[in-house]
Amino acid sequence: MGGGSAVIKIEQYVIEEAKRASGFEWTLGEYLDHLSPSSLSMLRRCPRQFQQRYLFGKKERPAEAPVIGTAVHAGLELNFGQKITSGVDMTTAELLTWYSDVGFEATLDAEQDRGGGEVAWDTDPERAKVRGRVMLGEYHNAISPRVQPVSVEGSFSIDLGAPVPIVGRFDIEESHQVIDVKTGKRKTTKPKEAWRIQGAVYNKARGKPVAFHSLSATENNAVTIATPLEAEELLIALDEHELRVMSQDVRALAALACLLFDLYGIEQSWPTWGRFHDWACSYCGFRNDCPAWSNNE
Ligand code: SF4
Repeated sequence: MGGGSAVIKIEQYVIEEAKRASGFEWTLGEYLDHLSPSSLSMLRRCPRQFQQRYLFGKKERPAEAPVIGTAVHAGLELNFGQKITSGVDMTTAELLTWYSDVGFEATLDAEQDRGGGEVAWDTDPERAKVRGRVMLGEYHNAISPRVQPVSVEGSFSIDLGAPVPIVGRFDIEESHQVIDVKTGKRKTTKPKEAWRIQGAVYNKARGKPVAFHSLSATENNAVTIATPLEAEELLIALDEHELRVMSQDVRALAALACLLFDLYGIEQSWPTWGRFHDWACSYCGFRNDCPAWSNNE
């Protein structure tokens, strides 16, 4: 009991120190007590989308690609979770049987509950399930044997000099690196913009390089996998100077959130910068009532 109050006092002290070090007051305390690589990326892409998602807490209708990705990740977590102590992979048949009988449906139900609605299918549930199955099977056959996890789905909270901590989760941690598996429709051999923030923050948080594994499948189920062995740029290993610069960039984004709050408050729409981004509006769940597009609806 005494330990609990001591922890609270230390946390308050750390937050106060961070506020002082960052040089600006965190004005969003009523709405947000942390940031994450995802929220920072969204803020940079489109402040209004960030406002809707993180300040209003609105949910976006689940989409097919993230549902497939989450189901594949659930399979990887199952295998790598047991491999931490066993040192041995499940057989591909065991893993895919679990995916077909349990994993995909459980993910679908959870995503629909979380998103508050039916998935917006690009194809249909059966084809999506098959696509996830071939991705999981190919990854398991080609990559799993060379991965020895020490933890899976771990979380962290790190002080990067912003007034609030940056929190996150990583897929797989090995003794020498962190692995983050990205699923999609197209082969990716360079980190995407959102991965760069994520990779840098993980790099700093765990003190290890971050390897992105890009696992993709077309609608015809042609699977490709890219890891740093095939594409060096998928490994993020920042030096001390780069990590310092990254911390400054994160602080600037936190300051931007406070500035926008000062300028627009909570109710008035924050800037609709997503309209200047290559794809942000195409995948935005808040487009229906977005002032950037009101003439087109
Ligand atoms: S539709 Fe585009 S501009 Fe509007 S909130 Fe979404 S991403 Fe931003």
